[in-house]
Amino acid sequence: MLRLTDLKLPLDHPESALREAIAARLGIAADELTGYTVAKRSYDARRRGAIVLIYSVDVDTPREGDIVRRLQLDAEAAEFARAGDSGRVMRTPDTSYKFVARAPENLPLRPLVIGMGPCGLFAALVLAQMGFRPIVLERGKAVRERTKDTWGLWRKKVLNPESNVQFGEGGAGTFSDGKLWSQISDPKHYGRKVIDEFVRAGAPEEIAYVSKPHIGTFRLVSMVEQMRATIESLGGEIRFSQRVDDLLVDTDRDGTRHVRGVTLESGEQLRADHVVLALGHSARDTFAMLHARGVFVEAKPFSIGFRIEHPQSLIDTARFGAQAGHPLLGAADYKLVHHCRNGRSVYSFCMCPGGTVVAAASEPGRVVTNGMSQYSRNERNANAAIVCGITPEDFARYGEGPLAGIELQRHWEARAFELGGGEYEAPGQLVGDFLKGRASSAFGTVLPSYKPGVRLGDLAPSLPEYAISAIREALPAFEKQIRGFAMHDAVLTGVETRTSSPVRITRGEDGHSLNTRGLFPAGEGAGYAGGILSAGVDGIRTAEAVALDVVSRTARA
Ligand code: FAD
Repeated sequence: MLRLTDLKLPLDHPESALREAIAARLGIAADELTGYTVAKRSYDARRRGAIVLIYSVDVDTPREGDIVRRLQLDAEAAEFARAGDSGRVMRTPDTSYKFVARAPENLPLRPLVIGMGPCGLFAALVLAQMGFRPIVLERGKAVRERTKDTWGLWRKKVLNPESNVQFGEGGAGTFSDGKLWSQISDPKHYGRKVIDEFVRAGAPEEIAYVSKPHIGTFRLVSMVEQMRATIESLGGEIRFSQRVDDLLVDTDRDGTRHVRGVTLESGEQLRADHVVLALGHSARDTFAMLHARGVFVEAKPFSIGFRIEHPQSLIDTARFGAQAGHPLLGAADYKLVHHCRNGRSVYSFCMCPGGTVVAAASEPGRVVTNGMSQYSRNERNANAAIVCGITPEDFARYGEGPLAGIELQRHWEARAFELGGGEYEAPGQLVGDFLKGRASSAFGTVLPSYKPGVRLGDLAPSLPEYAISAIREALPAFEKQIRGFAMHDAVLTGVETRTSSPVRITRGEDGHSLNTRGLFPAGEGAGYAGGILSAGVDGIRTAEAVALDVVSRTARA
């Protein structure tokens, strides 16, 4: 097969135009084209009046051999030979996933995977597919029961600290927009494996080719269940409501520390020589336990800020002009960044078109925001986090050591709880009032979507002064890119404190913790991923590291 990239066509082109463009690019007659599949479809909306679709396609033609020779696609130094159009024709790359190992017949101990977010899910799936029969330990509940608990906070103001937006089957991304793009470098095409497994589990097939795929909350729930069934059918085991509270570690004669298993909340001990830590960024008690057990943990930067809500129609019009609402474009998103005079950067994060702001706390007496949407993305408001980067120097006044960032988060989440009235409502303010430094008392044209509710007032005391002034400077700068962004009635809701993990559980090139062999820190909580796709990719990478270590140990034994 041949891959053609960068085929540009107007937004409303007929299907035949794509066939003609392919034939023209290859210099063949249209009837010499046996078939094609779209490998990727994106759009360029920089010229709002003339939005173009950009395709990569995989093409079948009996003329393939001639084309390969004519364009010297197999020539060494092919990149020099390929100029002009021929530079955008290549052999279709092999992106299929290849397992790195097979579990030995006499597998001594089963690997443990702690956490069943996207990282743990993919680590367990790939380990199971290689025959390692992993045991997954998840502190939260199975996804249907978890959904009820999560709604319990949103509708009844009752937080279950072990079953919520952060904890439970599917992890933090289950009640989300399900955005699946990432800017990670992925030379081994692990992202393709994540996408293919999601499609097998029931995700819309278009996620395999649209440039910014998303799934939405509703489908994610059933996909997670389907993936659980696959892991179990391959001999894996998944245990819910089983929080890991301690680690069994021993030190050999040359001083090397080895993990030997875990202790569960119930007191039960499980022996293992391979433990994947796929904890997510909110497992604060588990981070503290690891630190106390001497596992190498360090502080890392993250960001804090607010959620902002605008009418989705405002964003659509700003991005797409007269073509707003076109079904191939969907609800518009944005990505904004501003470098402030005080040296901070403020940027938009986790933008959810046509979605809702959600209560994402996992500790009692704290308020945290995040965003989600359904596949249709047809809610009235667009929301995104507007956050300011902070570094370990900023944490120092909240606590000592590598966990000080957690104390900073707790401090401001507790403040938000208090400002929201002490019943899990979130503090909020209209953008116009925030910019003028005066408290808000009534909503305008934008009604916030956060449940259980938003209490209007002044957000200035809800975050450190440097973050408030940076966000105050950034919003008018964003207005220059999206007209209406700093509109008076847009609503800010606070606080957004869990943009990424406040710690890194550092690992070496071979995937083991820097100072504890057999412990494999992975995913967002360990500081190696940010988002569903990259967490899944890191899960696969970690499964491979575990598998290779088991196989080499077994061979040595
Ligand atoms: P997590 O998904 O956080 O999973 C960790 C799991 O470990 C949890 O289930 C937790 O219960 C479990 N655990 C923790 N400690 C223990 C313990 N001691 N014992 C047993 N189990 C434990 N990303 C995107 O890419 N696109 C989006 O649209 C998107 N939207 C989001 C919306 C919301 C509301 C939230 C909260 C996050 C969103 N994210 C999104 C971020 C994304 O969800 C995370 O980046 C991703 O889930 C990280 O995956 P993970 O597997 O590393 O950790």
